[in-house]
Amino acid sequence: MYYKPEKVHRVLFKLSGEVLSGSKGFGYDDETIKSIVDDIIAVKRLGVSIAIVLGGGNIFRGINGSNAGMRRVIADSIGMLATVQNSLVLSEYLHQHNINSEVYSAVQMDRFTKFYTPLRAKTSLKEGRICIICAGTGNPYFTTDTAAVLRAVELDADIVIKGTKVDGVYTSDPEKDPEAEFLEAVDFDEVLSKKLNVMDMTAFSLARDNNMPVKVFNVLKKGNFEKAILNKDVGTYVYPTQS
Ligand code: UDP
Repeated sequence: MYYKPEKVHRVLFKLSGEVLSGSKGFGYDDETIKSIVDDIIAVKRLGVSIAIVLGGGNIFRGINGSNAGMRRVIADSIGMLATVQNSLVLSEYLHQHNINSEVYSAVQMDRFTKFYTPLRAKTSLKEGRICIICAGTGNPYFTTDTAAVLRAVELDADIVIKGTKVDGVYTSDPEKDPEAEFLEAVDFDEVLSKKLNVMDMTAFSLARDNNMPVKVFNVLKKGNFEKAILNKDVGTYVYPTQS
């Protein structure tokens, strides 16, 4: 048996950077971003409080810079800046739809964004604004998945909803293994014992230690975000192991 939150009051929406580039593989795809923005607005209309953490993979990943000879700390700073850029882009698309959002950064950069503190972001969420929280955790050697779980815990979200290019979690990589099976729901212990790929270990441990459920779903299918929130049969639900 597993539980699903009956009603999601607050969601932490994690969007990988590469989703923003659509099929281009780099930068921004206008049509894809517009479609995601429509989906975010649909969820907002359900009365759900929304915090968003964006990745930066459509622009720069620290590990790639480091593999090419950059110092890791600097490469990760560039990666974190990519998430700031992505967050400002998304907030502008929301603005074009008259949706108020507030961009908060884990690293102080007063000209561009407000400095993130959990209390500030919580106040904004309570006032009905979408909060886009960027610059990851503000530290190198982490990922935006870890930032997403951390912000979800800090902001008392009910769930982390991870929007990706795939339908959810499989028993193995479906692109390599024709026998790979799609998993509708799986608990934290099974993720570990079956070595399933949900998120990196640091992010996963934080979710597990704090009983924060995660749903992984395909954000490129229009309307899926709303369905994922409403517990319709979309994505893989990763839930705390019941003792
Ligand atoms: N990053 C970081 N600290 C963080 C989060 C992100 O240094 O707390 C850097 C890291 O270099 C990473 C990049 O930002 O590669 C972009 O984030 P991520 O790879 O998680 O983006 P995604 O794969 O979700 O698009």
